[in-house]
Amino acid sequence: MADVKNPNKHHKHHRLHALLIPYPFQGHVNPFVHLAIKLASQGITVTFVNTHYNHHQINSGDIFAGVRSESGLDIRYATVSDGLPLGFDRSLNHDQYQSALLHVFSAHVEELVESLVGEGVNVMIADTFFVWPSVVARKFGLVCVSFWTEAALVFSLYYHMDLLRIHGHFGAQETRRDLIDYIPGVEAINPKDTASYLQETDISSVVHQIIFKAFEDVKKVDFVLCNTIHQFESKTIHALNSKIPFYAIGPIIPFNLKTGSSVTTSLWSESDCTQWLNTKPAGSVLYISFGSYAHVTKKDLVEIAHGISLSKVNFVWVVRPDIVSSDETNPLPAGFESEAGDRGIVIPWCCQMTVLSHPSIGGFLTHCGWNSILESIWCEVPLLCFPLLTDQVTNRKLVVDDWKIGMNLCEDRGFVGRDEVKMSIGRLMRGESREGVRGAIGRVKMSLEGALKCSGSSGENLGLFVDGLVAKVGLSNGKA
Ligand code: UDP
Repeated sequence: MADVKNPNKHHKHHRLHALLIPYPFQGHVNPFVHLAIKLASQGITVTFVNTHYNHHQINSGDIFAGVRSESGLDIRYATVSDGLPLGFDRSLNHDQYQSALLHVFSAHVEELVESLVGEGVNVMIADTFFVWPSVVARKFGLVCVSFWTEAALVFSLYYHMDLLRIHGHFGAQETRRDLIDYIPGVEAINPKDTASYLQETDISSVVHQIIFKAFEDVKKVDFVLCNTIHQFESKTIHALNSKIPFYAIGPIIPFNLKTGSSVTTSLWSESDCTQWLNTKPAGSVLYISFGSYAHVTKKDLVEIAHGISLSKVNFVWVVRPDIVSSDETNPLPAGFESEAGDRGIVIPWCCQMTVLSHPSIGGFLTHCGWNSILESIWCEVPLLCFPLLTDQVTNRKLVVDDWKIGMNLCEDRGFVGRDEVKMSIGRLMRGESREGVRGAIGRVKMSLEGALKCSGSSGENLGLFVDGLVAKVGLSNGKA
């Protein structure tokens, strides 16, 4: 239903029509979907582009149909091939999938953009991980916006890869291990806390090629949006802003879930565990999930399972079907679930915000995906950190060392042992330090809430960004 109190609300920027193209992974699709809603609520026409494969996985037709009929927002929906057949196992064949995204995807996107320019598309908002946005946008005369779905700190480290190389912290035979203290706006950081790809010595992987090209391309875009808040990373954001218009507009999460948002984005079908959670005392359940992308070795998974059993904690564990590998169907130790009895449930996937916001949840054992961290802060659930790869390693530092809203699962990242897992679960759920963590997370949540207000930093940045878009579109139409 249209907003009757303010009928002009959705028509303020009627000239803007933005094409939103997420990197086709769950942790990118989710913030893009909610960015689409945010921008459409500002009166911008949005066309959201999903890949055929993700469209098929989400299995709910046009994912915005509910939002559109409830709110009257102008969000359109289109699909495009990622270059591979639907039946291709993208998890098992990760590198081929990434190669298709690197080499083939842009040709499909170009075809789609060409068919949509007639509908007045004048802005393209594409994921920073794509290697082609500035080229495609320029070809079709679109204003180019890059959306970075992770922390500004991680963006800055990739953005300054040349500095890391010059100083021998990246891409050298023997990389340096002392602190990195020369990245503008970034406090001295230990190399072990940088994104995993920046710590690897073999930098010839397909993901490295993507990162190298993507961070060349992002230097040519008109604006960067970032799913963070100014208060978290003000110095980093300030320094980036001297190079590129960089707007912190987070948190972009489904925080309005309880008030009835009807958009479903899950690539796996969700198990509903609300009934089960209702039977458990407040704050007694540990929620465990390692996100949508990372894999865990069978050895580590088995140690974690034993640690959970030994801890005797109540738990909901999301064990994604491909968590070890899609050809390892039953990776948990024999008898794990029967031993847990009514203490715990294992499910393949869930609506994470619904689970995190349930009062019985008292802790989150997480791989430290950026969305998971923002969602957990929003629900004020303390974190137990088990980073696996990519930005998760840096996110752990923010959570544990800087913001003190979580603890480490294991002190030595290379070694997971069941006794340590048991002890750290106990510390998180029942230990003395729990209260300090809970206090800190409450304060960080308040920063998130404050940022989202119209007069808050993200509210203001969103306004500035939209004004910037209007000016830029006007300019490129010669109507400034
Ligand atoms: N998620 C979910 N159900 C699950 C596990 C994860 O809905 O069982 C969602 C979660 O809410 C988050 C996203 O999937 O929005 C995962 O993103 P994140 O950045 O945390 O990790 P990634 O999957 O990118 O590693």
